[in-house]
Amino acid sequence: MSITLDQVTKQYQGNPVVNDVSLAVAEGEFFVLLGPSGSGKSTLLRAIAGLTEVDHGRITLFGRDVTQVSAREREVGFVFQNYALFRHMTVGENIEFALRVRREKAAERVRRRKELLELIGLADMDDRLPIQLSGGQQQRVAVARALAHKPKVLLLDEPFGALDAKIREELRRTIRSVQRELGITTILVTHDQEEAFALGDRLGVMNLGRLLEAGRPTDLYSRPATRFVATFLGAANLLLRREARLGPEAAGQSRREQEVVAMLRPEEAELAPDRDALTTGFLGYGHVEEMQFTGALERLRVRMGTEAAERHADASATAMSPVWIDVTRTQPEQRAFPLAPGQLVAVGTRRIHVLPTPLSSFTVCAESREAAERLMSNHWLTDLAARMQTRLSAQVEPQLASEIPAPGPAPAGVAVVAAGPDCPAKVRRLLGRGVTPILCLPEDAEPPGRVVVHFAGQVARRATLAMTASLLRHVPAEAVFLGILPSGSPERTRTAGVRQLLDVRSEAQAGHGLDVRTELRLGDRIEELLRELGSQPGQMLVLGLPEAGSLPENFEALLTQSPGWPVLLA
Ligand code: ADP
Ligand code: MG
Repeated sequence: MSITLDQVTKQYQGNPVVNDVSLAVAEGEFFVLLGPSGSGKSTLLRAIAGLTEVDHGRITLFGRDVTQVSAREREVGFVFQNYALFRHMTVGENIEFALRVRREKAAERVRRRKELLELIGLADMDDRLPIQLSGGQQQRVAVARALAHKPKVLLLDEPFGALDAKIREELRRTIRSVQRELGITTILVTHDQEEAFALGDRLGVMNLGRLLEAGRPTDLYSRPATRFVATFLGAANLLLRREARLGPEAAGQSRREQEVVAMLRPEEAELAPDRDALTTGFLGYGHVEEMQFTGALERLRVRMGTEAAERHADASATAMSPVWIDVTRTQPEQRAFPLAPGQLVAVGTRRIHVLPTPLSSFTVCAESREAAERLMSNHWLTDLAARMQTRLSAQVEPQLASEIPAPGPAPAGVAVVAAGPDCPAKVRRLLGRGVTPILCLPEDAEPPGRVVVHFAGQVARRATLAMTASLLRHVPAEAVFLGILPSGSPERTRTAGVRQLLDVRSEAQAGHGLDVRTELRLGDRIEELLRELGSQPGQMLVLGLPEAGSLPENFEALLTQSPGWPVLLA
């Protein structure tokens, strides 16, 4: 591997702007870091270059740990967004600069300069001043300058940012061909999805300081693991659907319906006059609400499950709440079935991709409407649901905490209940109905800045890691995974405990693309967790229960503390 990042973390004013990022870039690979503005891309790139110190983690370049090595000695070439050429130097002098600093001989400098000008297609521009060049040409010179000292790694931070569309494309070609020709390992930062697709052998998508997913462009586009990546890499319809699923613990249990998040790309939706005319899986009926002609494609918005549509529909097939589906159609599709606003259509799905997230939506469960509204107005919960682009709804059940069998259907997605004295009773009733995950939320809980993760036994291990991965993709917080062994454990048990923590790390990394920090504690499980959570405000707990469907008595203290912390139970 030529670039390896291991749990790289950078904080500003206590906020992790780069949060436990681990990544390996292969030799000669063109890797693109993509993410919205403020997601930490530049900070991460500067950390690799040695222009920013990191607070935690390790950076390795070609097998050499450079975490403490100065920028100059890292053998990295860097191109910034704003052409950082020296205004008073000619193009040639600019390119030579890095060689001069390194006391390279004049003859070698001239040879290298000529070679590089050739490479970037500006062979006769040696003596020009930057001001006599166009923006695109200036950026080419910046690339040549970054390459002058033959770095092993090229880092480009939004190099096309200030250029207009046509020049961008030209420069894109130049950079790609230069990179291919030299075979130099490259990381390019951009917020532009199209650019990322055009350039990257692989992409990594960042949000809120975390590297959410990395992979080949086509894989990330068609099979994203997260809502953020699904919607950031092009348009996507996110649907909540109920699916029969066999959980890992389902042996002997009847098949339980589970809510899942599914992605439907607009180009994978099919429209037809009625259900029988569809060639693909039927999703439902809807009305065309908006139509937009964009040249090659037609964009439509179909409002699903409206009343008139319901009458045409087969009731079992549209268990979906009213939702819009964005559809794009090619010219041949438009000609085959011309549409007008207001028209009723059947919607089919050529391809639906189910996301692996266990946190599909949130259902606040309370004994009264007032109590439900208090929880629904918790701003961390509303923010979280908005970030996840998912539904936040309420289910009022007066007998939520009592032994009387609950009348209605089990709440969908994550059940949210108020923390406090009767929280354990509610949790037990919900667990008894097969509901997980459950979020116990103090009404006045603030957004957590630190997430403590623990599972009490192997049963909940998988579920806990999956939940943690999903949660952390939407929460800008540090996370630490706690392993807890009884105090006085013999040496052998402790060694096994450490090994288990390493396994957890690699499982989270392999299964969920998530890196978590781990710590081993000795003591009573509940006491240790209480002490950890009480040590500073603004924390939350993700907790895997020792046995599916039940809450041990000694765990109650974790849910009834005041002032308490949010607890997400698996
Ligand atoms: P991106 O390149 O993805 O737009 P940055 O890495 O530039 O994101 O910034 C990530 C976050 O870190 C932003 O919220 C930004 O305000 C903050 N940040 C970056 N540099 C500093 C700094 N030197 N001091 C304080 N905050 C910073
Ligand atoms: Mg930036």
